[in-house]
Amino acid sequence: MKIVVDRDACMGYANCVIEAPELFDIDEATDKAVALIEEPDESFREAAERAARVCPAVALRIEG
Ligand code: SF4
Repeated sequence: MKIVVDRDACMGYANCVIEAPELFDIDEATDKAVALIEEPDESFREAAERAARVCPAVALRIEG
């Protein structure tokens, strides 16, 4: 599984960080989300999908 953050779409709302702090953080230089683990194992799938669902900008994509 791969987490892709669309940085053009990301508005820095940080919902993803609140939902899955083990997977996301906000880059202070750009105010955009960054994936802390770009290719997490399956144990992170539920958290990753939850974070993608709560992103108001639809900026998170889970591949694979
Ligand atoms: S929830 Fe979406 S818009 Fe907000 S920081 Fe995360 S990726 Fe960006």
